[in-house]
Amino acid sequence: MTVPAGRPVTEETIGGLRARLDEARSGGHRVGLVPTMGFLHAGHRSLIEHARSENDLVVVSIFVNPLQFNPGEDFDDYPRDLDHDLAVCARAGADIVFTPGQDEMYPEPVATTVRLGALADVLCGASRPGHFDGVATVVAKLFAIVGECSAYFGEKDFQQLTIVSRMAKDLSLPVSVVGCPTVREPDGLALSSRNAYLSEAERAQAPVLRRALEAGEALVEAGETDGAVVEARMTSVISDAPLATLDYAAAVSPTTLTRSQQPLQGDVRLLVAVRFGKARLIDNLGCRTG
Ligand code: AMP
Repeated sequence: MTVPAGRPVTEETIGGLRARLDEARSGGHRVGLVPTMGFLHAGHRSLIEHARSENDLVVVSIFVNPLQFNPGEDFDDYPRDLDHDLAVCARAGADIVFTPGQDEMYPEPVATTVRLGALADVLCGASRPGHFDGVATVVAKLFAIVGECSAYFGEKDFQQLTIVSRMAKDLSLPVSVVGCPTVREPDGLALSSRNAYLSEAERAQAPVLRRALEAGEALVEAGETDGAVVEARMTSVISDAPLATLDYAAAVSPTTLTRSQQPLQGDVRLLVAVRFGKARLIDNLGCRTG
């Protein structure tokens, strides 16, 4: 198949997408997949560009997945702008934009879902029960639809990246999961579709997530090996922002996402989740004990 150039093709059906990808793979093309919920920003664009640099055919999926929202969360209000998203996909070099409707992905209530183990119970999973099972279910479905490919996920959602990588491995899915660095605003705030919810005053305080992580990192690199001390330091930085409500500040092993190493040893992942009004923001960084 000739790889389409210029504006990406929009595909709404599972069958149509499969046919295009099977044809591409039979011609020896490597397929890259970037799963998203739309309202694309420069973070998503970096994933698409990464996929573009390593594959012959790049698929971006845009689907706001109801299974990963709990009752009372922002599924109905989640920001959507398909025209803008198509322009971002075109600029970043995507070939196909997969935009299935709810009826295409879930024509009837699902009777089968992915149930995750301990990785999904901690951090964001503790405050959003069932969220990661919903993520894993839609990602498994996307992997089954797309087939053999490399799939690009942001480190911004580090727990999600860890869970999806493990799921692909545990279930022997024909997908190589690639993690991509977090893209930030100049003041350190990680780009997120949910930043659109922030008031001006909340936006001004939101870089506190990054500052808390950097304070934690400085302690770890200076030799602090007590995870509780590192977490207390990050918590204290966040408490300086009057509009912020802390969900968690954690210093954990990057593979188990728990304090399986106490004292901290080797690679450490620092993660924070903070509410600003309606927006729940997350960020993280990796460091090593000094
Ligand atoms: P979402 O549309 O929020 O579900 O995100 C789709 C993908 O984009 C996920 O793999 C996210 O981790 C990734 N992503 C979101 N924000 C960023 C960012 N600021 N930098 C890099 N990747 C990101």
